[in-house]
Amino acid sequence: MCLARDLIGICDMRRIIARGQDGNVRHLAFRVMRAMVLEAPRTPLRAAELPDPTPGSGELLVRVDACGVCRTDLHIVDGELDRPKLPLVPGHQVVGRVIQRGEGATRHAVGDRVGIPWLGWTDGTCRYCRTGRENLCESARFTGYDIDGGYAELTVADERFVFAIPEDYPDLQAAPLLCAGLIGFRALRLAGDGERVGLYGFGAAAHIICQVALHQGRRVFAFVREGDEEARQFALELGAEWAGDSLAPAPEELDCALIFAPVGELVPAALRATARGGIVVCAGIHMSDIPSFPYEILWEERVLRSVANLTRADGEEFMALAPRVPVRAQVEPHPLDDANEALGRLRDGRIRGSAVLIPPGRTPVPDQEAA
Ligand SMILES: [Zn+2]
Ligand SMILES: [Zn+2]
Repeated sequence: MCLARDLIGICDMRRIIARGQDGNVRHLAFRVMRAMVLEAPRTPLRAAELPDPTPGSGELLVRVDACGVCRTDLHIVDGELDRPKLPLVPGHQVVGRVIQRGEGATRHAVGDRVGIPWLGWTDGTCRYCRTGRENLCESARFTGYDIDGGYAELTVADERFVFAIPEDYPDLQAAPLLCAGLIGFRALRLAGDGERVGLYGFGAAAHIICQVALHQGRRVFAFVREGDEEARQFALELGAEWAGDSLAPAPEELDCALIFAPVGELVPAALRATARGGIVVCAGIHMSDIPSFPYEILWEERVLRSVANLTRADGEEFMALAPRVPVRAQVEPHPLDDANEALGRLRDGRIRGSAVLIPPGRTPVPDQEAA
């Protein structure tokens, strides 16, 4: 495409007629990639062929090897986050290789393995950026929401916001670290250093953060959807010392609670389960309304807060920590074209760990699928 100076006509889906920089008319291959596209909220993603993206100044063209499926993707598809660019290629847990660098991009070499997270761009100048809180940037742009993401064969990212991926992580294992792991880790840090950690909702984020909390010498209590015996067993296998229904009383007081399920009823439940001075962190980007609750369950210096997005510093810190735990993500791979099925399984609570999409032609070795 970049060879063409003037587009004259399109022959078919894959070829264009253009006048080149030398002035001669020629037929050029119009290279296309496979992508899953959201055209309107509350409709299934459509399998599409889009022109290969081109990296602009300071950007990288990345060949996607794996892309994690996040609950945020589901909130976007379901219209609960209502300002996506449209049409949109979702996906913000992207693992791939740099195959081309835009002008002035020097931080990563062609061939480097990189991860592309949710935070895709910040202005660097607002009051939040200037005080180390770029996660709250007033003009932030997010991957797979404001910027096309990784449900595709190729994607483009601002090189300042991508991370190097630890070499001991295969592609499938690395993908869930980029949001489930990273934002879960930020939530755990904001929950303080209490010993008894409650995890509400035991999906992609909690199954990673359970491992991190145990590595830090804490005790983990898992709260799962009523009757979800599989999730309860999963939490116990990963080292939670207790696992039970999310609205049931905890076996003992918690020092902090992380709420990953998008269910407002869990907020008063977690406050009731928390000791004096305890901290409850809502870790998701969307939650159903929180029912009113008596002041006495917040009294005694309990803290209720949310966590929003990530900073690049969070990413660097978590990518260094993950191999030391070592975090082992449980992964359910799906071909890219099956993105709707993967999202449906997530909506129904049927995924154990994290779903990860694999573009056509990428064939991860079998042991990458093991936990
Ligand atoms: Zn800013
Ligand atoms: Zn996410």
